[in-house]
Amino acid sequence: MTRIDREFDYVIVGGGSAGCVLANRLSEDPSVTVCLLEAGPPDTNPLIHIPAGMLWLMRSKVLNWQFHTQPEAALAGRRLYWPRGRTLGGSSAINAMCYTRGHASDYDAWAQAGNPGWSYKDVLPYFKRAEDNANGASAFHGAGGPLHVTTFPSPSPITQAYIAAGVQAGFPLNHDFNGAEQEGVGVYQVTQKRGLRWSAARAYLGPARQRPNLTILTRAHAHRVLLTGQRATGVRFQHGQQVREVTARREVLLCAGAVQSPQLLMLSGIGPASHLRAHGIEVQVDLPGVGQNLQDHLDVMVTHEGRRALSNGLTWRNIVKGPWSLLQLLLAGKGMLTNNGAEGCGFIKSSPTEPIPDLQFHFMPARLRDHGRDLGFMTREGFSMHVCFLRPHSRGQITLHSADPHAPPLIEANYLDHPEDIDKLVLGIRQIRRIFASPAMDADRGAEITPGPAVQTDAQLREHIRAHAETIYHPVGTCKMGDDASDPSHVVDSALRVHGVQGLRVVDASVMPTLIGGNTNAPVIMMAEKAADLIRAAAGH
Ligand SMILES: Cc1cc2nc3c(=O)[nH]c(=O)nc-3n(C[C@H](O)[C@H](O)[C@H](O)COP(=O)(O)OP(=O)(O)OC[C@H]3O[C@@H](n4cnc5c(N)ncnc54)[C@H](O)[C@@H]3O)c2cc1C
Repeated sequence: MTRIDREFDYVIVGGGSAGCVLANRLSEDPSVTVCLLEAGPPDTNPLIHIPAGMLWLMRSKVLNWQFHTQPEAALAGRRLYWPRGRTLGGSSAINAMCYTRGHASDYDAWAQAGNPGWSYKDVLPYFKRAEDNANGASAFHGAGGPLHVTTFPSPSPITQAYIAAGVQAGFPLNHDFNGAEQEGVGVYQVTQKRGLRWSAARAYLGPARQRPNLTILTRAHAHRVLLTGQRATGVRFQHGQQVREVTARREVLLCAGAVQSPQLLMLSGIGPASHLRAHGIEVQVDLPGVGQNLQDHLDVMVTHEGRRALSNGLTWRNIVKGPWSLLQLLLAGKGMLTNNGAEGCGFIKSSPTEPIPDLQFHFMPARLRDHGRDLGFMTREGFSMHVCFLRPHSRGQITLHSADPHAPPLIEANYLDHPEDIDKLVLGIRQIRRIFASPAMDADRGAEITPGPAVQTDAQLREHIRAHAETIYHPVGTCKMGDDASDPSHVVDSALRVHGVQGLRVVDASVMPTLIGGNTNAPVIMMAEKAADLIRAAAGH
């Protein structure tokens, strides 16, 4: 790092999906100075950029925060593993690269809940502005934006069999889950370019890194936002062994994600007063909603033995092919190493009476267990399908474990607190079994490994879900957006300004009032694109 100015116009905390967008957009104006603080190291490890490196990233303690929930009451007291990215690009540097936006009605629901400017009609231009879709511009897609999006380049024949089986089971074939209709089965579009991961850092910091008005500090762990009266004026952070402070002349922008943005607010004295006092933190603003309203997609898998030697697991065949696969990736941007962990997509209705898809599938032509950390399980042929319920009713919370900024916060996801959340997963497993029973899977279908043929009744399936369900990595909602400052659940207004504090916004997955029906990276990038406009409009630049 070259130079550390002590004063900037904007200080951004967290160089993840949202932080990278803001760093780029705000520093487009050369008269404005921007500082980006990221707790993790730079994104130089090649395993970030090779999509199949995701398997290793799941185990990395350097590039991944490796959080765990508290024991989850409805999940047999298990503590669930929550990977989150810890490098430039944040979770977009370790995610599965699936590019989906959710359903149009998700955004209309945000607007109807009292968030003007966030309807689908309002946000579509920001999805398009961000995007460089390989299929070109259209009514739904953008071209020429920073974020490269392309149809997954090398779907396995097993993935193609799954899609054919889905069609045989009665679901529409869909080539664009972000187009006019979300429903159907097909191949995912992914955030990749020439077969390499296109993280938010690649997309947004790549073109901006050299700007003299943008300072990027890595290994810079924010401890708290500094306040003068009710105004945010800077950030205290640890850089190496030193504790430093930077001043923000205009605004501090928290982009630390759904787990750590509420933690940082609380460490700064902004949050539920009694909880802060219990940790000896002086209360600056009593905001009871901070850390509440946590929502996530809980996921369960159906895994099968395979019959064709075609899967993408860690089989001897694939290991021997390794050097050839690397060559294929580097020369053609294709092959097994482009694998994102989820090639086949599905958005389906759990029953025909549902107005919109309420279940999402991620199909993987490999046997998968424990987030891909059980490498032994992947050494044989097989395939897996995940299913999650897209709009869960259960709500959890993030609270402080202690006032130590380096201690992970307490995560209580409270999964399956609402009975419908588990009922939908039961229906999801049944739908997967129906698809896998279709003739198109005959050549691939070996024995079902999980839940396993003995697990058939609703009660047995529920027990299986409680014992095995995991996150599919979409925590949101812990700094809920809402304009009504008298509503204790609202943390930021619809311009993402923290209620009761000047010069402080939260811009990341935590501000979503409700979880959208899809993956969350593109929606977060969209939100940050819109936030950049809001910030610039407020400052008149
Ligand atoms: C394993 C995995 C797979 C996923 N798969 C997909 C997928 O296929 N498609 C999809 O759309 N979404 C996926 N997601 C979700 C998606 O990537 C996230 O929702 C999105 O990246 C969140 O963006 P964010 O800006 O809110 O937070 P993040 O991108 O997580 O960024 C937060 C950043 O803040 C930094 N930070 C935190 N605390 C501090 C601090 N105190 N000081 C300084 N810096 C700090 C972090 O290190 C991190 O870089 C996945 C996520 C994971 C973890």
